[in-house]
Amino acid sequence: MTQETGGFAAFNLNPNILAAVIATGYEEPSAIQQQSIPIIMAGHDMIGQAQTGTGKTAAFALPILHRIDPAKREPQALILAPTRELALQVATAFETYAKQMPGVTVVAVYGGAPMGPQLKAIRNGAQIVVATPGRLCDHLRRDEKVLSTVNHLVLDEADEMLKLGFMDDLEVIFKALPPTRQTVLFSATLPQSIRAIAERHLRDPQHVKIQTKTQTVTAIEQAHLLVHADQKTSAVLSLLEVEDFDALIMFVRTKQATLDLASALEAKGYKAAALNGDIAQNQRERVIESLKDGRLDIVVATDVAARGLDVPRITHVFNVDMPYDPESYVHRIGRTGRAGREGRALLLVTPRERRMLQVIERVTGQKVAEVRLPDAQAVLDARIKKLTNSLSPLVADAESTHGELLDRLTADIGCTPRALAAALLRKATNAQALTLAAIEKERPLVPNNAPRGDRPERTGDRPDRGDRERRAPVPLAEGRARCRTALGARDGIAAKNLLGAILNEGGLAREAIGRIQVRDSFSLVELPEDGLERLLTKLKDTRVAGKQLKLRRYRED
Ligand code: AMP
Repeated sequence: MTQETGGFAAFNLNPNILAAVIATGYEEPSAIQQQSIPIIMAGHDMIGQAQTGTGKTAAFALPILHRIDPAKREPQALILAPTRELALQVATAFETYAKQMPGVTVVAVYGGAPMGPQLKAIRNGAQIVVATPGRLCDHLRRDEKVLSTVNHLVLDEADEMLKLGFMDDLEVIFKALPPTRQTVLFSATLPQSIRAIAERHLRDPQHVKIQTKTQTVTAIEQAHLLVHADQKTSAVLSLLEVEDFDALIMFVRTKQATLDLASALEAKGYKAAALNGDIAQNQRERVIESLKDGRLDIVVATDVAARGLDVPRITHVFNVDMPYDPESYVHRIGRTGRAGREGRALLLVTPRERRMLQVIERVTGQKVAEVRLPDAQAVLDARIKKLTNSLSPLVADAESTHGELLDRLTADIGCTPRALAAALLRKATNAQALTLAAIEKERPLVPNNAPRGDRPERTGDRPDRGDRERRAPVPLAEGRARCRTALGARDGIAAKNLLGAILNEGGLAREAIGRIQVRDSFSLVELPEDGLERLLTKLKDTRVAGKQLKLRRYRED
């Protein structure tokens, strides 16, 4: 076991859970996990004030899994979530952490899908039920005993549940559970309505809140960029084009992410390496030395691995994955701006993590300005500037050393010096795109940052009864077309099935496929406009989950 997993090992979780956590690549518990896991493991009721991005799901999922009895095939833990999307996400997290616990099953219960299979899964002995309140009440109306064996209840995003009008449903559910159960409540905010619930339904709860003492950050220019989770790599590549950096450190959450991102950067010609808790000490020292002396320019690290790293060359910090708490944000960005130099810190924020951004701004007392991805013109300007900088020192004496050769070659080839210089440039720039049109064509499909008002990551994410919160349509990125299939969640389809089928049969690169939204009775997929008809023909006979995909261009008007 590496030293870093000692953090999780110290909880004394069931070894099968610990093994799954290690396999997931987490190196150490986040602040909310550090505080909540022992309390929940000990069976106490708890109120946790934490938002998405803090690691709150694992903070309750790990100890709850520890407390259930896999041998008993009946519902033992109930997790309530405000939306279908969150319920699915939480269920998936439980499945991940329970991967090495034979006999443990998880069922997600939400509106829009048929009730029969959900009820069957519960009756077949799923120990963990993750549900939206509305649909769960429908089940209770059919069978009021369905939850009578549940002895752990978690309310996730309780404030969101109340906002969506689930108060009455929650009361019905509380009544259907044994009064002796353990109750854990997570909420980003604690308004009076939440406190009232806690008072009525929790017994002597312990409070957990990430300590947010004010932090000072000096000499570091901070900015954030809104981006979808699956577009982070291409966003990073675009940013690197225009950021004038010397050395740069990128922070991600898992070991795997350090490896994936470092190899994506290397593939683009950057001198990059990964740094994570699995890397042996001597290798780690080598990486840091290389970063110091310029053999490396970018290190992609986890928080644990970057501890104590002090390299004065670092001009930039990219927070590719959100830090768990403001303190670690401040810690991370402190890697730059060393020795009185100026530093720049960029934070990638997915739509769901905006609240975390606000917390960071509050704690640091500074606004983290929003930036947009560079457009094609900015990329072109930056590329030309780099080229100018690399060529201008060579011009001074080139004529004396190579002037005669130039004369001879232009004579031999029979071309103008301009034509020859252009040919040499093409060769020297490795056919890099250096016109606006060429850049527009090659650019990853992420230039449209989502506008502030909508929450694109959650469009598939409706409250389970009625459309209580209408959302603005998600803008389509340039060069993309939206396509529709009549297969949806009720056909047992998940986004990854669609993605797999289109990648395999369509022969596309992963970056070519945009957002995939799986609704109940249909799904939408963003595909490249260029060559779309050919692609659709290619996918004509493709089947997913045993059914014909029948993907068609979708026009919303
Ligand atoms: P949550 O706040 O529960 O939505 O979690 C945010 C993200 O952090 C999820 O993608 C988790 O997989 C990831 N995560 C949670 N705990 C850890 C940890 N200790 N180390 C690394 N990643 C984590």
